[in-house]
Amino acid sequence: MKALEALIDLEKLKYCFECGICTASCPIAEMLPTHYNPRILLHSIHLDEERLLTSAEPWLCAWCYKCNQRCPQGLNLPEIFRAIRKYAVEHGSLEGFTSALKIIRETIPLPASCCYICFHPERTIDDSKLIEDSIQKLIIDYIITTGKTTKAVSSPTLHKERIAIVGSGPSGLTTACELAMKGYPVTVFESLPKAGGMLRVGIPEFRLPKEVLDADIGYIKDLGVEIKTNVAIGNDLMLDDLRKEYNAVLIATGMQKDKEFNIEGNDLNGVVNALDFLRQVNLGKIVELKPKVAVVCVHRLLGIDVARVALQLEPEEVRLIYRRSKKRMLFHGRIGEQMQKEFKEAEREGMKTHFMTWPTRILGKDGQVVGLECARMGLGKPNEKGLRKLIPIEGSNFVIDLDSVILAVGQAPSISPSEEIELGEENSVIVNPVTLETNLPGVYACGEIAWGPSTAIVSIASGKQAADSIDEFLRTKQVGTIKI
Ligand SMILES: Cc1cc2nc3c(=O)[nH]c(=O)nc-3n(C[C@H](O)[C@H](O)[C@H](O)COP(=O)(O)OP(=O)(O)OC[C@H]3O[C@@H](n4cnc5c(N)ncnc54)[C@H](O)[C@@H]3O)c2cc1C
Ligand code: SF4
Ligand code: SF4
Repeated sequence: MKALEALIDLEKLKYCFECGICTASCPIAEMLPTHYNPRILLHSIHLDEERLLTSAEPWLCAWCYKCNQRCPQGLNLPEIFRAIRKYAVEHGSLEGFTSALKIIRETIPLPASCCYICFHPERTIDDSKLIEDSIQKLIIDYIITTGKTTKAVSSPTLHKERIAIVGSGPSGLTTACELAMKGYPVTVFESLPKAGGMLRVGIPEFRLPKEVLDADIGYIKDLGVEIKTNVAIGNDLMLDDLRKEYNAVLIATGMQKDKEFNIEGNDLNGVVNALDFLRQVNLGKIVELKPKVAVVCVHRLLGIDVARVALQLEPEEVRLIYRRSKKRMLFHGRIGEQMQKEFKEAEREGMKTHFMTWPTRILGKDGQVVGLECARMGLGKPNEKGLRKLIPIEGSNFVIDLDSVILAVGQAPSISPSEEIELGEENSVIVNPVTLETNLPGVYACGEIAWGPSTAIVSIASGKQAADSIDEFLRTKQVGTIKI
């Protein structure tokens, strides 16, 4: 146990008072209750070393950090589970990992994609290229070549009720997969030419190879799910049309819009929003960039993803502009950990950085971007809470010559496919938190459009919840049924 003690501050575990909030907030515990319970796993650390070394559980944590955000004692469970994985690897045991892959393959929709973006062991053993490569190979052999993704068999149609799903991101595809497996005829409507949502058009290829996503979607299609692309609900077809033709409708449209960035010159040619940029690149519509590019980074992870994608198009230079310090950008936590890795890669690929810098206006000539005026930022006097506000330093303005500016501010909800749907804060769709039903009977919503920006695994868990509710609704035909 000494090796594990070196990796984890076991003293901290004493602060856990077993309230179970971590388990209650964990999407994996919700989806795989017989396989995974973070609270119990935490407690087995003191008790059973053999179990720790060989158990699938530490490998099933999907790094969503919901437990950490909700734990009243602030315990960082994913960090602890990461240490256990490292401990197992250092003891030459990959048994737990292999069992975890089997569980993921059998129980989680989009298993291969999830292995890349949720369960990836690279996050545990980042210092061992050899193990990383062999594990990557294991994922491909185990899941893509010989696994679930190539062996789907169309489910027999057991129900006559038809279901329409709006949006083919992880939440919509999960509901489609679950309902098809229950024997419902399901049709997914997707406004883009390809299915997959942000896994297709947001997450860059270097983090999720598209052939992996294709394998997962192929499996769902083989189950009998029909996916109609290039159909925007609210435009090509109305929600009312779907309600007449289908017995239940799910809205899983995610957050497709970029948050606005109010700055002079944002309407010039050469200014593009980050999600638009990623979408166009991922769909092969942007294949080259003008020579000098700046990424204005408000959302750290989005900004780095965008900078790295831009670098792959090989312009002369890509500059990242960030209002705060480098330390702040790489700040720890879920994002921080990934940030550090991605940031290192981006610097290695040639990204230039301007920290404590903020744009004041985008400069143009004949309607085209020619530069970005920026100010250096300093720290103001501490307020009553001791916090120091960022303020532009007077007279520090300078100009960077540029041809393109990419604004990476963050995500906003998609436009609702119908005005009749009740919207809440920031235009998310309001749902009954238990049934996920909207104000319209038989119309459900799940994923980011209902719960805000999140992760793939949380969206998948939400898709599973929607499938259960729709199944319940169709079987009982009672609107808003809640089983207690
Ligand atoms: C740049 C980026 C990087 C990310 N990296 C990660 C990561 O590494 N790991 C991770 O776990 N998560 C990551 N995420 C988050 C993850 O992708 C999302 O949490 C997840 O995709 C949300 O799923 P969803 O099904 O709710 O919506 P989405 O994936 O957004 O899918 C919604 C779909 O609905 C379609 N649609 C919208 N309106 C209509 C309409 N009216 N008619 C028909 N179709 C419509 C859209 O075109 C889209 O295909 C990232 C997100 C972004 C943007
Ligand atoms: S939420 Fe925190 S305190 Fe509660 S059981 Fe989990 S780790 Fe322990
Ligand atoms: S990080 Fe997410 S998946 Fe892992 S234990 Fe916490 S809630 Fe569960």
